[in-house]
Amino acid sequence: MTAPENFQHARVSRRTILGATAGGVLLGGLTVPTAAHAAPAPRCYTRTEWSARPPKSATQVIGKPDHIVIHHTASPNVTDYSLAAAYKVQHWIQDLHMDTNGWIDIGNQLTISRGGFLMEGRSKSLSAINNGQNVLGAQTANHNSHTIGIEHEGIYVSQDVTVALFDMSVLTCAWLCTKYGLDPHAAIVGHRDYNTTQCPGDVFYARLPELRDRVAAVLFG
Ligand SMILES: [Zn+2]
Repeated sequence: MTAPENFQHARVSRRTILGATAGGVLLGGLTVPTAAHAAPAPRCYTRTEWSARPPKSATQVIGKPDHIVIHHTASPNVTDYSLAAAYKVQHWIQDLHMDTNGWIDIGNQLTISRGGFLMEGRSKSLSAINNGQNVLGAQTANHNSHTIGIEHEGIYVSQDVTVALFDMSVLTCAWLCTKYGLDPHAAIVGHRDYNTTQCPGDVFYARLPELRDRVAAVLFG
């Protein structure tokens, strides 16, 4: 779940300073291994396709992020895995963020439904990613300037994610790591690593090591 930008918290970063790695690139002390494989872009349903509301003001395009933040939406674990259901939850998120939170647009850059459909979030997110850039979102308080957020439909405090959702998260993170030159073991974090929140739920959070390993297998396997 997203949080307002001014929400205070204790930062616990998973950022790891790696030792020198053969074929790696040193970026500000962080050694990023060079991916052996470029992960392709998964099918991403655009704002036009899900009929997004226009943003209240212009989206700010910023430089590439150094972390990918994993969220859950804390909405019900629906069993309708259709594209229509994916569009429905995306509208729910956008309305919540714009009408209740008062933000300019949906806060997160990407959303994955329980049926495994990937959708563009904040305006211009898809073009920014394809250009190796990011848009300034509202998904991780105090860390929006350097992170990109993926909302995952559902609530995972006691139940597990769907296979389709997890598989699409792997493909999406691999694509983002390719676009941004990120090491999945250093870059992929849970929302709770930055803010005081249950997000993305104990069960999903416990699977982040598996997510990182599977993304690494796509990139380096
Ligand atoms: Zn969250």
